[in-house]
Amino acid sequence: MDIIEAKNRISALRDIIKENNEAYYVFDSPKISDFEYDELFRELKKLEEEFPELKTSDSPTMKVGDKISSGFKEHKHKFRLYSLDNSNNYDDLIKWYERIQKEYPEEKNIELVVELKIDGLSCALSYKKGELITGATRGNGIIGENITENIKTVKGIPSKLLSDINLEVRGEVYMPISSFERLNAENYEKGLKEFANPRNAAAGSLRQLNPKITAVRDLHFFAYTAISDDTNLFKTHYEALQLLSSLGFNTNPNYKLVKGIDAVIDLCKYWSTERFNLGYATDGLVIKVNDLNKQNELGFTSRAPKWASAFKFPPEEVWTKLEDIELSVGKTGAVTPVAILSPVKLAGSIVKRASLHNFDEINRLKINKGNTVLIKKAAEIIPKVIRKKEDEDYGVFNTPEECPFCHTRLIKPQGEVLLYCPNFQNCPAQIKGRIEYWASKEAMDIDGVGSSIVEKLLSKGLIKDFADLYSLTTDDFMKLDLVKEKSAENLFNAIQSSKKPSMTKFLTALSIKHIGKETADIIANEFPDLESIKKASIDSLTKIDGIGDKAAKSIVDFFNDENNKIILSKLENFGVSPQGSAFEKISDIFNGKTFVITGTLSAPRSVFEERIKKLGGKVSSSVSKKTSYLIAGENPGSKFDKASALDVIILNERDFDILCQDNNNI
Ligand code: NAD
Repeated sequence: MDIIEAKNRISALRDIIKENNEAYYVFDSPKISDFEYDELFRELKKLEEEFPELKTSDSPTMKVGDKISSGFKEHKHKFRLYSLDNSNNYDDLIKWYERIQKEYPEEKNIELVVELKIDGLSCALSYKKGELITGATRGNGIIGENITENIKTVKGIPSKLLSDINLEVRGEVYMPISSFERLNAENYEKGLKEFANPRNAAAGSLRQLNPKITAVRDLHFFAYTAISDDTNLFKTHYEALQLLSSLGFNTNPNYKLVKGIDAVIDLCKYWSTERFNLGYATDGLVIKVNDLNKQNELGFTSRAPKWASAFKFPPEEVWTKLEDIELSVGKTGAVTPVAILSPVKLAGSIVKRASLHNFDEINRLKINKGNTVLIKKAAEIIPKVIRKKEDEDYGVFNTPEECPFCHTRLIKPQGEVLLYCPNFQNCPAQIKGRIEYWASKEAMDIDGVGSSIVEKLLSKGLIKDFADLYSLTTDDFMKLDLVKEKSAENLFNAIQSSKKPSMTKFLTALSIKHIGKETADIIANEFPDLESIKKASIDSLTKIDGIGDKAAKSIVDFFNDENNKIILSKLENFGVSPQGSAFEKISDIFNGKTFVITGTLSAPRSVFEERIKKLGGKVSSSVSKKTSYLIAGENPGSKFDKASALDVIILNERDFDILCQDNNNI
């Protein structure tokens, strides 16, 4: 490339980057993916390195962030905030390390701290004599937005430290993925704009002019930097992180002190896949030189510290071609569209299918076979389609009118978004789905009875429904392709030993519409046996906390249906009998009381649930006016806010123990 071409390309890149900076930093509404942005940014940086005469001080590569919003007061930072230089390959990371190692030839392996790069919004907090004085956004690194009132509503930020010191703290405000999805679902329902990702949702929520709005959004904080004038307070970054925890901050528990770059690369590989199990978004790792003296010696560029580098994970979003839209019919007849994609690598695995949720979603996305679509993998395992290329028009996929398997006309029950095949008894897809689900881990947990065995049993005419599984003999299994004597015996034994399930498992396994494991558990704890559930009325069911109109009607319809009665009596004849409530009551002190649990407790939630149920109480998953108590552990989510708004009594673990004190032996 000659200098004229470079000049033109540099100018075009700066324009695109500036435009996208504004969309991202000022309006919290990016127009392109982070991966695409990073590619443009790296291209610009590389060209400016090749042609240093074209470098100018107003280039985005020389700056941090962007303009600040006019709605807030300006805050001048006491210590400048920086961005981070980043790479998406190990070679660049090694080069960064070698540059540092060269400065300290006498040391064999430099000590580094490796942290998760939390995908949120960086904030600067100032404490005087232990009191929170200001909270501000990064802005351009020198001047940020004063958001002190909003900051006070974020979980994990103490307004008073456990020591009377002066301290500057930096950290990331983030929104857990579940809260982000809930917020987007609410916005969708209300016809409001949805956020592109948890980072933008956190930024949009924190930078609200009305702090009351910030307060009801589920925002959390991880502190990652402490700066103090007192040089004796900590000598290394690792010590600074430990001090932050001891002062009352949330620090991310996954930081590690390592020596040399090999250990860093191992951690990059580990977190590339493990990050999906975190519950909050991380877009990479940050690697920092541990020794603060060395940090001072290494210094900063105009935009980023030289003593730190970020490794960015492979993109969580990628473009690919939508080859087809397949229709799947589930166990309750729900018809869902599935995107069949040109295989593409996304976040470490090859993706061929993505969820499209429902036909309203297809209409919203305006997509059809042939479109180029952006797919994304966040915390969920199944990727989803985000949008199509704007300038492409292949029309919109026609919403089907009949079931692709049994050709029955589809229905859309009032108030529901999904289409259903109403042929519950005879639709082959539903029958297969229900048998597979009956045997699945979530339901009866019958080892070995998966999709392929069910398919073979159905095609040989050996079963017609899940009750028939109990009529099968070892010889029946040996009639199936590739099933030998030993595995036939194993299958037979696995089925026979599932005859005494808990009531929750049994009710879940029946595939009753709107009745998942949680609702099944509520019902199981409310009725002494199956007979009384069969006889329950809609009225008596809706009186139970956690059972809504739809679920109640669905239960009554299910047990009144003649075909279901036949299946249930077959199960009974084969000796399949659910065992009453899993929890034997030992007291009635919590009779009529409903508990909701949130946050991290000292023991798994099931331990608390068991205690509540043994004392006659009920556990529900959501807070409502009917909730008697909320047990809140650390980092409580939006349930805490809702409970406060509804004046529900909030207990910590100790309060709960006191409440149970008469029965402390449980
Ligand atoms: P950055 O997000 O790449 O890295 C710096 C930031 O990382 C810090 O300011 C801090 O907020 C954060 N961070 C998280 N965990 C940290 C930890 N443990 N230690 C230190 N810092 C931590 O840089 P940036 O300057 O905030 O933004 C640039 C990035 O933003 C781009 O690389 C791109 O991914 C994204 N971006 C996207 C668009 C778009 O249109 N999609 C536009 C602008 C920026």
